[in-house]
Amino acid sequence: MEHTALSVALAQLNLAAQKLELNAGIHKMLSQPKRSIMVSIDIRLDNGDIDVFNGVRVQHWDVRGPFKGGIRYYPGITIDEVKALSMLMTWKCAIADIPYGGAKGGVCIDSKKLTKQELERVTRRYVSLIVDYLGPHRDIPAPDMYTDAQTMAWVMDTYSQLKGYSVPECVTGKPVEVGGSEGRTEATGRGVIHCVKQAAQNIDLKLKGASVAVQGFGNVGYHAAQAAAEIGCKVVAVSDSTGGIYRADGLNPTQVLSHKEKTGSVQGFKDCRNITNQELIETQCEVLIPAAMENQITCSNADKIKARMVAEAANGPTTPEADQALHERGICLIPDILANCGGVTASYFEWVQNLTREHWPLQKVNRKLEEKMTKAFEDVHALSQKEESDLRTGALMLGVGRVANAIKVLGIWP
Ligand code: GLU
Repeated sequence: MEHTALSVALAQLNLAAQKLELNAGIHKMLSQPKRSIMVSIDIRLDNGDIDVFNGVRVQHWDVRGPFKGGIRYYPGITIDEVKALSMLMTWKCAIADIPYGGAKGGVCIDSKKLTKQELERVTRRYVSLIVDYLGPHRDIPAPDMYTDAQTMAWVMDTYSQLKGYSVPECVTGKPVEVGGSEGRTEATGRGVIHCVKQAAQNIDLKLKGASVAVQGFGNVGYHAAQAAAEIGCKVVAVSDSTGGIYRADGLNPTQVLSHKEKTGSVQGFKDCRNITNQELIETQCEVLIPAAMENQITCSNADKIKARMVAEAANGPTTPEADQALHERGICLIPDILANCGGVTASYFEWVQNLTREHWPLQKVNRKLEEKMTKAFEDVHALSQKEESDLRTGALMLGVGRVANAIKVLGIWP
């Protein structure tokens, strides 16, 4: 069956609504974003030509607090995909129990084909077009695919210039020099491994020496691999968009990263066998961490997965049929909205630090991150046990249920 990110997100909402016996009106409200803004981003290229890119910011629901969510730069992005991702952000923030609603932004752009100056102009123009809908108490962007701390510094500066005063709390994931939090960059990947630790206890999996395969070696994948190695796992395979590498006795993620920085690819790293991204998914390992894109685990490879646990570091890497197939095979799957909520949780810590004009040490951020992730996992796990469901259903019920309760107590205006 053909899936889109939006059809999957809506099917997930339906499932939660059915299980929660959700009021039909609230279900309808949550099926659509509160606001979708489409903009046309005109910039001058370095060679003097003008080019135009499409951008969007979708604000799903903000009943638990201001909108929050990343901005991704990706050539094939569609408004429906951003709508789906904004919905996932709403559930994610509710599961993490942080006071935000969900949003997501996207610009149709191949960031690899633009120069740094061109990317800066795109970012600044994009922010200027949506500035009235942003703000520390309205909507707080953050990094996502192919955007990073530098992009967020441009967001902060553009917002601040347009307001006429410095507003570090208008965006998270900034460089530390301008109010970014210690530990924000690593937080999503580290958070994934906090979940893996919790889940491993439930399925009696010893993580010391356990083999781990990570698909995607961007910010999330690299830090997940690094955090896994830190707790004694053997990272046997990693990959990026160009392909992957395998070494049975384990890889050192930091060395692989410096190889990738030098050569542009993880492939060709010493004493490794090159593998494809497809082979990575089917690698012999105990824990599989898809940390790249949507729809990587599908009905054509779900039955070939050998891992005992799948931790979804990416958003939406597993199709619904594959999800079902993994569940039937007894593979423990930690869903995206739980597994990767460490990023937005650390964003919340950054926002709190900015609002209170504080700067916390790394140890404090990491300790609080572990506390939040552990609590989120326990809440989801407890609900799944009670409902005799998988963790994804438990996570959706927890997230959607918390948001629905907020709507109930706030009421409908006017
Ligand atoms: N883009 C990240 C996510 O999908 C982080 C969002 C944030 O920090 O606001 O969760």
